[in-house]
Amino acid sequence: MFELNNKVAIVTGSGSLKGIGRDIALKLAEQGASIVVADLNVEGIQDTVKAVEETGAKALGVELNVASKESVDAMIEKVLSEFGRIDILVNNAGISQKVTVEDMTLEDMQRIFSVNMFGLFLCSQAVLKPMKEQHFGRIINLSSVSAKRGGGVFGGAHYSASKAAVLGFAKNLAREVATDGITVNSVAPGLVNTEIWKSLPEADAAKVIDGIPLGRPGETSEIATTIAFLASDEASYITGEDIDINGGSHMD
Ligand code: NAD
Repeated sequence: MFELNNKVAIVTGSGSLKGIGRDIALKLAEQGASIVVADLNVEGIQDTVKAVEETGAKALGVELNVASKESVDAMIEKVLSEFGRIDILVNNAGISQKVTVEDMTLEDMQRIFSVNMFGLFLCSQAVLKPMKEQHFGRIINLSSVSAKRGGGVFGGAHYSASKAAVLGFAKNLAREVATDGITVNSVAPGLVNTEIWKSLPEADAAKVIDGIPLGRPGETSEIATTIAFLASDEASYITGEDIDINGGSHMD
């Protein structure tokens, strides 16, 4: 579909067994990329590495805390020593919490931002040097419909704010690095058919579906395919963009 032979892709948060990151890793692998499976979850890393290798692609598992600069720097060192280049970074690791602003603590706010925004900053900053040297790079961020419509079903205002911050950060970075051959884009998924969606009581799920013109949650493969496109040479003239993948639940 989108040829990614000889490309090296880091996918953060790809150790979640039923998550979006794992499907992104598999989709990029199927297109020919070597995959760095980076996550806090060591067991999950091993599982995704195995699944990536089953596609015939190379995989490197790295334990990573995106919120720690030391951890991010150590990952970059490992990736460069194994593969010698970094072409694609997918900033997928993210956390959420359902809480009202009234009940939210400053620590809640800091925790969500430390992963969703500051971790994304650390990972993006760390890949710039190798990407500039190659004069090629693709940075792709997971934002959320919640950034645009003010909340989804599961998060809080801190989650919405962190995912909105991602969009502004990406546009600014896109301007900074465009002449270095690096594009920076984001996707904003609506509800995706992951474990958290399946945990929703039937009546609540029906209410949510009512608000989605396409009448169903998104599939992880639908997010992954859009990301594979943004990572490809075919998307060479797209930067600073964010693509809604939400079944029509929010239209800009
Ligand atoms: P998930 O919880 O299934 O997976 C997230 C992964 O990130 C986990 O494997 C977790 O271990 C990892 N992670 C968490 N903190 C980390 C850290 N500090 N360092 C490294 N890894 C860390 O989540 P998901 O539903 O697959 O969502 C993936 C991304 O898509 C997130 O950024 C999320 O906000 C975004 N998103 C999800 C949905 C949805 O409906 N699931 C909708 C819109 C956006």
